[in-house]
Amino acid sequence: MSDQGTMKRDANDYLTYYNASGKVRTFSGIQPSGEVHIGNYLGAISNWVKFLDDYDCFFCIVDHHATTIAYDPARMPARVFDAAVANIAAGLDPERCVIFVQSEVPEHTELAWVFNTVTPFGDLSRMTQFKQKSQQHEENINVGLFTYPVLQAADILLYKASAVPVGEDQVQHIELAREIARKFNTRYGDVFPECQAHLTPAKRIMGLDGENKMSKSLGNTIGLLEEPESIWKKLGPAKTDERRKRKTDPGVPEDCNVYTSYHSYFSSPEDLSWIQEGCTTAGIGCLQCKKRLFKNMLAVLDPIREKATGLRARPDFVHEVLSAGAERCRGIAAEVIEEARTAMGLHRNRV
Ligand code: SF4
Repeated sequence: MSDQGTMKRDANDYLTYYNASGKVRTFSGIQPSGEVHIGNYLGAISNWVKFLDDYDCFFCIVDHHATTIAYDPARMPARVFDAAVANIAAGLDPERCVIFVQSEVPEHTELAWVFNTVTPFGDLSRMTQFKQKSQQHEENINVGLFTYPVLQAADILLYKASAVPVGEDQVQHIELAREIARKFNTRYGDVFPECQAHLTPAKRIMGLDGENKMSKSLGNTIGLLEEPESIWKKLGPAKTDERRKRKTDPGVPEDCNVYTSYHSYFSSPEDLSWIQEGCTTAGIGCLQCKKRLFKNMLAVLDPIREKATGLRARPDFVHEVLSAGAERCRGIAAEVIEEARTAMGLHRNRV
């Protein structure tokens, strides 16, 4: 079945793809990281859910990207399954979006090669994430880590996605993807849209240490599906405003990670006012404040955890969602890669 839409310039003069129903397509990559944490939820997934009604949404579990750092192959299938479960439970309704696994659509890597040939080496050298990852994984600075943004561009543009919901740390990669599309189009004709980053409202979600972005590798996370008892064990000792050495010492909520990173997302305006008043006057203690946070967190996380438990009890359903997603994507990918090959003259029978 053809999935052909049209490409035209949007109000901002970006070449944009509209699907056959006139919707702009979005693409988001989900790392099969082994644990989806609340930083992923607040910083990405909860924002993606808002796109479901108005956009043609594609969510890809990017297992090829995950292989750029050392990993245990025996664990990868479970990581992919867990990522699917967590994201569906968190709101990626398979009835309203496509969810699939990157390696099940081989055209991603073919298009990445094509894009390698139009991407300036210097542009890739400037990618901040590559510099950070090379420092984190000094023992394994592979070429895949370097060309990661090229595969990311291929992921997006293989579906002609024009809107890419990302956090601030990914904006540089999306700008590069747009440049890659322009370079390809200039050389071979307009095939790919000029994708744009749609910044998520949530900024960097800090970890429990209050010093670094929440990250599994730093051990400062609260898991999206973590049991309440375990969450409370982590919240109890979480760092607060240093001024509050004793309960009678007033504090400043804006200088407290518990407030800025978590209360601000999970708690109501009424609760935030209660904390402002109580913290600055030493009217409440940190434990009391954390208990309110815990209650508010569970109001959001309990239904997600329960849905995930239900999905785990139906693994066939999860696999069917991923298989159907890959089939739909292979159909689109075959058409787009054919368009790219034709534009590039990669057809001996057309001479
Ligand atoms: S009362 Fe709440 S906002 Fe104030 S320092 Fe303690 S945990 Fe942070």
